[in-house]
This record gives sequence, C-alpha cells and structure tokens, in this order.
Amino acid sequence: MLKNDQLDQWDRENFFHPSTHLAQHARGESPNRVIKTASGVFIEDRDGNKLLDAFAGLYCVNVGYGRPEIADAIAAQAKELAYYHAYVGHGTEASITLSKMVLDRAPKNMSKVYFGLGGSDANETNVKLVWYYNNILGRPQKKKIISRWRGYHGSGLVTGSLTGLELFHKKFDLPIEQVIHTEAPYYFRRQNLDQTEEQFVAHCAAELEALIEREGADTIAAFIGEPALGTGGIVPPPAGYWEAIQAVLKKHDILLIADEVVTGFGRLGTMFGSDHYGMEPDIITIAKGLTSAYAPLSGSILSDKVWKVLEQGTDENGPIGHGWTYSAHPIGAAAGVANLELLDKLNLIENAKTTGAYLNEQMKAALGDHAHVGDVRGEGLLCAVEFVKDKDSHTFFDPSEKVGPRISATLLEQSKIIARAMPQGDILGFAPPFCLTRYEVDQIVAGVVQAVETVL
Ligand code: PLP
Repeated sequence: MLKNDQLDQWDRENFFHPSTHLAQHARGESPNRVIKTASGVFIEDRDGNKLLDAFAGLYCVNVGYGRPEIADAIAAQAKELAYYHAYVGHGTEASITLSKMVLDRAPKNMSKVYFGLGGSDANETNVKLVWYYNNILGRPQKKKIISRWRGYHGSGLVTGSLTGLELFHKKFDLPIEQVIHTEAPYYFRRQNLDQTEEQFVAHCAAELEALIEREGADTIAAFIGEPALGTGGIVPPPAGYWEAIQAVLKKHDILLIADEVVTGFGRLGTMFGSDHYGMEPDIITIAKGLTSAYAPLSGSILSDKVWKVLEQGTDENGPIGHGWTYSAHPIGAAAGVANLELLDKLNLIENAKTTGAYLNEQMKAALGDHAHVGDVRGEGLLCAVEFVKDKDSHTFFDPSEKVGPRISATLLEQSKIIARAMPQGDILGFAPPFCLTRYEVDQIVAGVVQAVETVL
C-alpha cells in the first residue's frame, strides 16, 4: 500500500484533474481527496472519514454505491467478453438487451438508441445527426443550434459551446458560431421582478421567437435544453414553460433535443424529465443514470421522425460515418441492464419522488425564511438553496465572497455531508442517490442549517 505522502506527491506531479484550479492544486494549496470505498449514500476516504454524499458523485450514482448486482454483472461480462465493437451490425447480448430496455422506458415515438460513453459525446452525436438530417432533407443551411444561458451540455467543442456558463467558454474561444443562446427559464433571476411566472414564461417564449426571427428559421436546426436546469443552478422551469417553448419550435420546424443526462431514469420522480413536463422531444440525451456511473455509457435516443431520415441517408450515401471504438461497450451495457433492473426491483424512482418531496419540503421549512436565503427549489431528488445578500432588494453576493463554496466547505467540515457549490451564483445543490432515507434527509437539513448559521 502506498503511503499518503507518496500518493499526494504523485497526484500533484502527474494527475491533471478536470474542473480544478490547476496551479493551486499543483502547489498543494487545495486538499487531496482520495476516495477509497463507498456504500449506499456514503463514501469513505483513505483516512476512514465517512461522508454522506448528497450529490451522488456528479448526480450519477442514482442507485447508490456498492451494489453487488451491478458489480457482479460487470465482472461476469468482463470474463465472458470484455470487448467487441458494434460497427457494421455487430452487437452483444448486453447491448441489444439494453437497447430494448431503454426503448421500453422511453417516451412515445422513440425509435432507436445509439450508445456512446458520456453525456458530452452523446450531445456531439446529436448535433452531428441533426446536421446530417437536414442535409438529407435538402436544407443544408438549417444548422444552428439554440441552447439556453445556464444550460449545461458538456465540455467538448460543440457541447462546451452549447453549455451556457462562462467558466466553460473563458479562454477556450467558445462558443463556436453555429451555437446561439437564449434566456434560461430561471424565474428567481428574472430581470423584471414585477413579472408573474406566467408573464415570465411568455417572455421566454417571445425571446426565443425573436431570436429565431432575427437569425431566420431556415438557418436553425434544433433547440437543446435540460428539462430542469442542472449545473446552471438546479432550476425547475416555471409551469407552462415547455408547452410555450414547444409551440414556438413546432411553428418554425425546429427539432427539440431533451438533454436528460441528469433527469433521465428517475431523478425527477418520473422515468424521464420529458414525461414530467409533457415534452415531446425528437432526440433525448442519456448518460449518468443509465448505469448509475458503475461504468461509462451514454445514449442518444432518436424519434421515429429522425430515424427514418437517417435510414434514407444511408440508402442514398452508404453507411453512416459516425462511431466510437467504445460505442455500446459490453461492460457498460451489462452495467446498464443490471442498473435498470435494480431501479425497478427496488422501486427506486418512487423513492426519488417521495423522499425528494420530503427533502424539498424540509429544506424549505428550515431555510425558506432565512434573511440570506432567496430561494429553495427543486423537483424529485434535485434541490437547491440559493443565497442572497439582501432579500428585499433581491441583490446577490459578490462572487469574490465565495459564499456558496464556503457554505459547502463548512457543511463538509462540520457534518461530513457533501453538497455541491454550483459553478455560477451562490447556490448549494443536492442530488442524492435514490436510496436516501428520511432520516438522512433530516441529517442533511440539520447540517445545512448549521453551516448557513456559521457562514452567514
Ligand atoms: N448534459 C448534462 C445535462 C449534464 O449534466 C452533463 C454532465 O454533467 C453532460 C451533458 C455532460 O456529460 P459528461 O460529463 O458525461 O460528458
């Protein structure tokens, strides 16, 4: 076994951590967190500290840690067949079974699923397929993609462009020119505080329509959105938002991509976020909850309407020139099958709904009236607490005060609970595994109250 000092040195010398202040980390100014083991909603670090993970990793370990059913399925698949590719019609029992299970659970009118590795590559696939689709339909100019400010869709070249968060653009020369952004359905941060929710929804739809008219509908291929915003602040949309947006998209013949990387497979208490909000997407992005992160796997679920055009395209042009070595990797697929079976067997989506409702109620009851809490919001097992400098004047803290990160760090230190300081704004986010109990909700809420009282 390596000594901690040796590991720390190797870490600083060799390991490029994603989404990290690289210089501070290399200088040893931020702590090394080496995680060793995990079970249920708890992770344990190398020093034996047990931490309640109220963010399920990166909102992905939905069935909870340490499930032997999934570990055994992965081991059995690795022993029988660790790899074979899925090109030119090849498949494995696991990948074919998983495609059937995904389609059985998907919203109506969905036809096929393409498997990738993570949410970013799935959204890259989606954009490419949408471009291919419009080329086959003879509309090569219809290529732009509309995304929302504060949307998160990955950190690749196209997907980092789709992401509407400053951090992911800064110094990367993003967004690329085919990507344009519109208003986020973030009622709490509306510009005009006099607007009712209904007026704000009408405003979002009008902004979208104005953007489409400015750019020309014949240049716009698709609109991408998370059913409820995740990384941009955990923001469920106001009532009627998706209905209003979909009406505009239909009118201008623009495809809808529902990015369900976070919301897919139960996080909102329904199988998909699209089911929850009455969305009728043409394409759905899935990842995280597909395998509960026991192995990397993502997917693009395509509607019949899109699929038919892709088929036509290959009749006209030959095999589709898109694929990864690891598309539909058998180990990921085996993890996906075992994960979806477990979700059903343990009724975990129902638990996400009821325990999620309890978490949101308790958080609101405990903190809703606090002078520096502007908003407590959520849906299913997503919850956010947003801090404000002054409630009456609706003013926010200066980012240099690092209020969100300080509360998150205090919560970890005092109560050994992990919640995420969301990247833009002072927002503490919660997205625990679906096996969370009411007892653990009470612990989380008590811990957050104590941390808020300490910092503010
Ligand atoms: N889309 C959404 C909604 C996400 O939340 C994420 C990641 O958090 C992604 C896409 C990107 O997924 P990945 O990090 O697996 O590339």
